[in-house]
Amino acid sequence: MKKNNKKIKITIDKKKCIGCGSCTILCPDVFELGKDGKSQVKNTDGNIEEIKSAAESCPVKAIKIEE
Ligand code: SF4
Repeated sequence: MKKNNKKIKITIDKKKCIGCGSCTILCPDVFELGKDGKSQVKNTDGNIEEIKSAAESCPVKAIKIEE
């Protein structure tokens, strides 16, 4: 699997996140559920396709990616 070698910025809108866990399942290297039950970025060095797929799968579109 290709790793993300460019620096990208991943932002999660915690107000929108409903803690469904979808992003953490699709891209566990990058997303995790925090103590508040909402998604957080633990590491930006993940597979870019997985990161994009996690962002697309988010039901409330809380994940933003800037390349
Ligand atoms: S997919 Fe979206 S709503 Fe679900 S945990 Fe991730 S950021 Fe939150």
